[in-house]
Amino acid sequence: MTTIRLFVGQLDSKIGFVFHLPYHVRAPAIFDDQTEPLARPGNLMSHSKKSIFRESRICCHRLTLALVAFVSLAFAHSQTVAQPPTGDTNDTRTSLENPTGSAGAKPTVPQINENRGSQLPQPTFDGQSAFEVLKAVCEIGPRVSGTAGMKQQQAMLTKHFEALGAQVHLQTFNVRHPNTGQLVELGNLAVRFHPEREKRLLICCHYDTRPFPDQDKVNPRGVFLGANDGASGVALLYELGKHMPGLPGNFGVDFVFFDGEEFVYVYRRDTMFLGSTHFANQYAANKWPANYTYGVLVDMIGDKNLEIYYEGNSLSFAPRLTRSIWGVAQRLGVKEFVPKKRHKIRDDHLPLNSIARIRTCDIIDFDYPTAESENAYWHTEQDKVENCSAESLTKVGWVLLEWLKEMEKLN
Ligand SMILES: [Zn+2]
Repeated sequence: MTTIRLFVGQLDSKIGFVFHLPYHVRAPAIFDDQTEPLARPGNLMSHSKKSIFRESRICCHRLTLALVAFVSLAFAHSQTVAQPPTGDTNDTRTSLENPTGSAGAKPTVPQINENRGSQLPQPTFDGQSAFEVLKAVCEIGPRVSGTAGMKQQQAMLTKHFEALGAQVHLQTFNVRHPNTGQLVELGNLAVRFHPEREKRLLICCHYDTRPFPDQDKVNPRGVFLGANDGASGVALLYELGKHMPGLPGNFGVDFVFFDGEEFVYVYRRDTMFLGSTHFANQYAANKWPANYTYGVLVDMIGDKNLEIYYEGNSLSFAPRLTRSIWGVAQRLGVKEFVPKKRHKIRDDHLPLNSIARIRTCDIIDFDYPTAESENAYWHTEQDKVENCSAESLTKVGWVLLEWLKEMEKLN
């Protein structure tokens, strides 16, 4: 019954494939990733109680045995919680042809929302504060690479992160302007917390905006603000940074804001991912002082109709990392992280994976505003503050922060 429509190079080179599934297939009914930890002891206990009630006709002895077996299995399963998402090197891109993140797996655990009642975990991330940053960034206006808007944003971020005690470094490089051929200086903004920690994690986004809303059917040469495609990642990292100085544990964290993700004046002519490619080349040539265990990219995570599926290239390059993040979302009850593959997207994580060899996952909502809309707001004047929300930033920021805390517990 599954219908799959395949688009190659539709709209933008950013897309590789778009899988369109009928609604009933897309519905996140069951978490299908058996490798990830899901159930907290509380959930397991309540599930057991329910089972006892349902099976009341079974003799007491059998029931006790079953309960002991169930709790033992649950305990064994819970031991996987603290396992680091290592082993990605064993996975190859062939998983894309046989997606491991979607159909086929049988459910072994109850749905995360079952029996949650009033015991919902509370967000530890202030999405409202992040949303204020998103608005402030948009008030700058367009932040196109090499423009005054970009410089203003860089100054704002530098001031903020230096006040938090982080090291801030602008990694500059020159490119040719796609239209004039003149040299333009671009810059990736790197923010380093706990520089003394040898093992490190990379959290990144792009902070440039597309020069024009070229997908806008009404005004393709209008003003592109990039509230979601640009400012949302910046706002998220801005707020996340407040948690970094107090982050205990074994990993230092670097934020990198990539420039030139879409320094694109003419569709299909101009090169994308300039900043992340430069960064990846420097890293691969040992010209960047860090050794990253993992990278996490966020892009377009402010959409107020949030739905974030597994992204195909992430599943291919970094499947266990990707599943570990969605696993955290499941445990927190953040249903907007849907553990099914939907899009395969070319984004800044590709140079990081393929050139720098940093296993990197892309957290991206590529259904802006909805799955049915065919990404109608993307690269249009509709990518504005009103179509983003504090709630969405709360959810993504919370998942990322809690994932970081889990990573910090690992050796
Ligand atoms: Zn874009």
